[in-house]
Amino acid sequence: MNHDVIVLGAGLAGLTAARDLAAGGADVLVLEARDRVGGRVEQTELPDGRLVQLGGEVVGRAHTGYTALAAELGLTLVPSYVAEPGALARATPEGISAGDPPHWFRQGDDARHRKVTAAFTELARTVDPDDPWSHPDATALDRLSVADWLRSQEAGPAVVRLWEIGRLALADGSYERTSLLAALRKNAAVPGPGHYDYEAWEGLRVAEGSATVALRMAEGLGARVRTGAPVEAVAVRRPRGCAVRIAGGETLTAAAVVSALPAGPLRSVAVSGVSEARLASLHRQRHALAAKFTAAYETPFWRELGLSGLSECEGVLGSTWPQSDGILSALIPPERYGVLLGIPGPLRTPELLADMARLYGEEAHRPLTTHLRLWGTDPWTQGYVTQWTPGDVMAVGPLHGTHEPPFYVCGSDQWVAGYMEGAVRTGRDAAREVLSRG
Ligand SMILES: Cc1cc2nc3c(=O)[nH]c(=O)nc-3n(C[C@H](O)[C@H](O)[C@H](O)COP(=O)(O)OP(=O)(O)OC[C@H]3O[C@@H](n4cnc5c(N)ncnc54)[C@H](O)[C@@H]3O)c2cc1C
Repeated sequence: MNHDVIVLGAGLAGLTAARDLAAGGADVLVLEARDRVGGRVEQTELPDGRLVQLGGEVVGRAHTGYTALAAELGLTLVPSYVAEPGALARATPEGISAGDPPHWFRQGDDARHRKVTAAFTELARTVDPDDPWSHPDATALDRLSVADWLRSQEAGPAVVRLWEIGRLALADGSYERTSLLAALRKNAAVPGPGHYDYEAWEGLRVAEGSATVALRMAEGLGARVRTGAPVEAVAVRRPRGCAVRIAGGETLTAAAVVSALPAGPLRSVAVSGVSEARLASLHRQRHALAAKFTAAYETPFWRELGLSGLSECEGVLGSTWPQSDGILSALIPPERYGVLLGIPGPLRTPELLADMARLYGEEAHRPLTTHLRLWGTDPWTQGYVTQWTPGDVMAVGPLHGTHEPPFYVCGSDQWVAGYMEGAVRTGRDAAREVLSRG
């Protein structure tokens, strides 16, 4: 059957694009490999009715694309963990501390931290987030890792460690292996007083559940979303349109294709009729491999210790934060993903709970339920968020996030820094582009 547009992937990006395309009068079909929609947003319901987010969870006030979409869908944004009372905890092999400064800081470290933070935010102001390639020092900034830059600024090991533990808490790759240009670009996209403004990036969540955003869009699209349909090949045949082959051999045709696939799975799709340069740029993208662990308790017992539930850790876990009443979320960063996979299956949950117990006491060993989601090795995601190692920004190049009609791209990888905001913004942009070309 011939459609106007076939969208590949029913994550937030694909669904947002399809929703806008359908609203614009296009006959659209979404092909999704899994038997569910949502991609990297997924939720499950506990017997007591609480929802647990197994993937993407929080957004911030700077995420105007996502917050506008949530409002259109009749969903409610409420303050996230960022507004929780209590102190942030930090756990390293030699100690645990609550609040600032961290336990490894010595005299002068705080001043050094403030100095490099100011230098970083000032340097970020010289980067155009939409066109980092135009920076006069783009190549040099991209080659340098954030950690090397910190050392060049005489930040000192204690400050590098503070930046690194915060970075591993976000799980998108060590600062030892993160392009300075990519980090500056992310900061320039959402400027703030620090090198990562938690309120602007993570201060909100959807009260009805983050994955409800995807479910609601899919509901609206109805039969236009086809699940259990892994795409294997796309042939762009100008001017005749596009042919999309799914597993089992069925071929569907459309005037245009919007790929909303993550970088990894897209590499496995045979795409023809698109320029080598366009494909090389897409295929050059990579993901940070991370896992998410959640533990649901009767009550947020950590509050009794004066703690917020937010932590940065050097265990197998990189961080914890309170997802909603009594539920702790945690990320296992790429640097520890291999360690997690090496833990024999039955020991994984107890070992992760032991990391939590180190922060919050023995009660952490007694959750009602836990979930461990290995996104890094999930075949339909092959990662977590885009990772930009030194050299990647220049290698992906200015084709990042651009279209080659009738082949369009969207997805969080096609934005500055991944995130649900990236999925929504690029999904809307792709739909707008398709519709503007009739
Ligand atoms: C654990 C975790 C925590 C996160 N936390 C946050 C957070 O708090 N805040 C935030 O903003 N972001 C967060 N993110 C990132 C955010 O969830 C993602 O960036 C965003 O949801 C990606 O949307 P997408 O549509 O671009 O890609 P995806 O959601 O990955 O959607 C792509 C879709 O394509 C499908 N697919 C893949 N291959 C094929 C194929 N061959 N054929 C057909 N379909 C295919 C997949 O099954 C999937 O449904 C988190 C991600 C993870 C994994």
